[in-house]
Amino acid sequence: MQAWRYVGSHQPLERQEIERPRPGPGEVVVQVRAAGVCHSDLHVLEGIAPFPTPMTLGHEGCGTVAEIGPGVTGLEPGQLVALYGPNSEGDCRFCRRGEENLCPAGPAIGLGIDGAYAEFVRCRARSAIPVPDGVEPAAAAVATDAVLTPYHALKGVGRLRAGETAVLIGLGGLGMNAVEIARLLGAYVIAVDLLPEKLEQARAAGAHETIDGRDQATVAALAAREPDVVADFVALEATVQTAQQIVRPGGRVVLVGLGATTGPLLTFRYGAQQIAAQGSFWGTSQELREVLDLIARGAIRPPVHTEPLGAVNDVLDRLRRGEVAGRVALVPEG
Ligand SMILES: [Zn+2]
Repeated sequence: MQAWRYVGSHQPLERQEIERPRPGPGEVVVQVRAAGVCHSDLHVLEGIAPFPTPMTLGHEGCGTVAEIGPGVTGLEPGQLVALYGPNSEGDCRFCRRGEENLCPAGPAIGLGIDGAYAEFVRCRARSAIPVPDGVEPAAAAVATDAVLTPYHALKGVGRLRAGETAVLIGLGGLGMNAVEIARLLGAYVIAVDLLPEKLEQARAAGAHETIDGRDQATVAALAAREPDVVADFVALEATVQTAQQIVRPGGRVVLVGLGATTGPLLTFRYGAQQIAAQGSFWGTSQELREVLDLIARGAIRPPVHTEPLGAVNDVLDRLRRGEVAGRVALVPEG
């Protein structure tokens, strides 16, 4: 089968012909129908962490169950499933606490083991989450990260409630979905980005207000709104600084982006004004079921369009240049 594989940092993905995977006990093999392209792929290519080579990239997968391994129940061949990327095993101390997004068993699909930029992908059966009727494969694919991650960040970690004000920094693939999710949770939504066209999209997605991050007055203007929750989908030093400056006393900062490895800590605001900050990573499989259900009901409409799998390196280049609006889902040819 065809697979597009990571062969080392700062190199394009390489198209390779490899053997189609077979499921072991407790595993399934899924025929890929759509695979979302994520900014995290660029971090992999930049060499943010060591990964095995060669490794098929692609951690936002959706497809039909092609083959079922020994001992697997509850899945049928041909069933449409979305792949729960963290690929947790379900019974470790993290999984038992409901923190399966932190399960050390992994490795994550497309981020440690072979992922979805291929015709077929293998994973734990419990990572194959049934897709409700009416959800297109491309939407289900991007649900697994681009929707799940902001959902976990705002609802799970940020505990964003109706009537609160949320500031969302960075309107990439995740941040744009965060606009709809924050609206759904009943929040007043202020979206911040550097690009006017992203601000326009955010207004179309339901943001009550948008603010141009290039404006010098941004920090004071945002602080005056006393946001209860500030979610930073960029997490570069400058945005982390802003997030801590603008959150109201007693408010919550949620760091989602992986932009910087270190950053400023405005210690005084923590001690004197009781602000809190917490990181947020991906989401749980239960939350993935919830977002798939919300998409099926039309409550979240993730912006996504499809392109052929063979265009993957071109799509990654455009994503690097900031030229991708919403999300691209790759579809294997043939
Ligand atoms: Zn676990």
